[in-house]
Amino acid sequence: MAERLYTTLITCHLDGHAHNVTDESVAAGREAGGYEALCDHRIVPAPMIAPVGERCPGCTAVLAPQEPDPAPPRVVDRGTGSAGGCGGSCTRAGDGLRFDRPWSGC
Ligand SMILES: [Zn+2]
Repeated sequence: MAERLYTTLITCHLDGHAHNVTDESVAAGREAGGYEALCDHRIVPAPMIAPVGERCPGCTAVLAPQEPDPAPPRVVDRGTGSAGGCGGSCTRAGDGLRFDRPWSGC
């Protein structure tokens, strides 16, 4: 399981976006007066009375859940079935269709 990431939104005076900043970055940037956002933007904090800016698309992308691994390919076993007298490898007479499951007609 992934480790939790705690962030604070801080609006940048330069681009007007609200960026996500980790608690560690807030602590580290307190002395310097600037913070490193998740999107690597260097934030110059807007005044506290300024409205919160629009969410930064870069930080939003970093926080987006990762795509799950694609499902493994579906394996269809043709011709090794156990039902039916032919072992599932027969074709229906006349039309040449092959079945994913043994055809009960043989
Ligand atoms: Zn950002």
